[in-house]
Amino acid sequence: MSEHENHPASQQSIRAEAIESLLIEKGLLSEDAVDEVIVQYNERVGPMNGAKVVARAWKDPAFKLRLLTDGTRAVEEFEFTGGQVEKLVVVENTPAVHNVVVCTLCSCYPWAVLGLPPKWYKDPAYRSRIVREPRRVLAEFGVQISSSKELRVWDSSAEIRYMVLPEMPSDSESTSEEELAARVTRDAMIGVALL
Ligand code: FE
Repeated sequence: MSEHENHPASQQSIRAEAIESLLIEKGLLSEDAVDEVIVQYNERVGPMNGAKVVARAWKDPAFKLRLLTDGTRAVEEFEFTGGQVEKLVVVENTPAVHNVVVCTLCSCYPWAVLGLPPKWYKDPAYRSRIVREPRRVLAEFGVQISSSKELRVWDSSAEIRYMVLPEMPSDSESTSEEELAARVTRDAMIGVALL
C-alpha cells in the first residue's frame, strides 16, 4: 500500500522528539534509556516472537489449542521480554475464513508478540477503510480474498489485542519449527499478507 508508506514527519513525531529533547536537557531522561527502549522493541520484542508462536502452533496441535483458547496464557510459555499486560486473542486463518486486524480508534497492537506497529497500521485511511471495504484494501496489499471466503475484521482495543494465526504453507509439512518461524511475516500475522 504505497500511499501509506511515505509520510512527512508527523505532528506526533515532532512532538515526541521535542519532548524527548526537553526531558534529556532537564536531566529527567538519558539518551541511553531512550536507545535502550528502541533496541528493546526493534530487536528483542518484534515479529520474530509472534513468528515463533505461529510456528509452534503449526507443529504442535496441543499448543495450538491452548493458543486459540487463551492466547495470553499460551504465549507466557515463551517467556518473551517486554511484558504482556493486555489480553491477547489469536484468530486462525482457515480455507474458509480470513482474519485481519485493525485498531479503528488509534493503534492498539500486540506489542509483546509483534513489536512496534508499522506506520500504515496507524494511518487513518487503513483504520477506516479496512472496515468498510476490507477486500479492496487487502487487494491493495496484494492479497486476493475470494468472495466465497468469510472475511473477519478484528478491532483491537487497549484491553484486547489480536494476532492472526496464518495458514501453514502447504509445502512445509516436514520443515522444522525454527525454519517455519523464519517464513512467518509480520504482515501475515496482521492479516494483510498470505504465506
Ligand atoms: Fe488503539
